[in-house]
Amino acid sequence: MEIHNVMEELVFSEVERACIDIKKEVNKQGICTCPQCRMDVASYVLNRITPHYIVSSRGILREDHFDIKNQQKIADITSLVYKAFEQINLNRRPGFAHTNSWKVDVDTAVAYFNIPVIIGRIFNGSTFEPVCNIDVELHLNGELVKMKDANWQNPCKLIKKTEGTFTFWPESLPSDKVGEQKLFNFSIVAPIPGFSPLVHHFELPVVSEKDLVRTVAMNRTHKVTDLYMFDMDDDEAQD
Ligand SMILES: [Zn+2]
Repeated sequence: MEIHNVMEELVFSEVERACIDIKKEVNKQGICTCPQCRMDVASYVLNRITPHYIVSSRGILREDHFDIKNQQKIADITSLVYKAFEQINLNRRPGFAHTNSWKVDVDTAVAYFNIPVIIGRIFNGSTFEPVCNIDVELHLNGELVKMKDANWQNPCKLIKKTEGTFTFWPESLPSDKVGEQKLFNFSIVAPIPGFSPLVHHFELPVVSEKDLVRTVAMNRTHKVTDLYMFDMDDDEAQD
């Protein structure tokens, strides 16, 4: 069983739809629709709407549980998506290529572990405010993970606009055969001056596939549980 926010699918598909419209409309063509900005837009919107949680077990269709009857709700989300694209573009993430053209690994392996986009948020444990202006790292077996391409950064800088959200898209890893199951041990590491170092371990099972995934599948993301950091003083007080 898992807890799932069904608004995620809705927002992700609205973001994809908006991207197609933005590319067609002349007066919107300056707006960046790169994978990183798309993820930032999705985060922006998800942080501003009421989540709708369901408990699902694997194999049960989510559509059985949730039927969006309220068309107005979708219209609101659509307009929020456009607002988000404008806001994110006013303050694009620094250090990213912001390109839609992919420079991906050459596919010479038999199969690939296509690791999903890893997304999460960090909050200040005392104030519950989202943390910004820090660098967050993704490690695999203790080493900094290489990203899919120049659109993604590791470390990833938390900026004010995206409200404590970090996103990583690790490069696909080769496998010897299709259908190989492997458990990857990732860690989110945030060394922050004045705070207890934040280290969060999580396991991600991935099954190898024949083809490299070359475009972001927004519905194939791994959401890391919300993380909280505490400053040194609080820590000492607790001891
Ligand atoms: Zn961009």
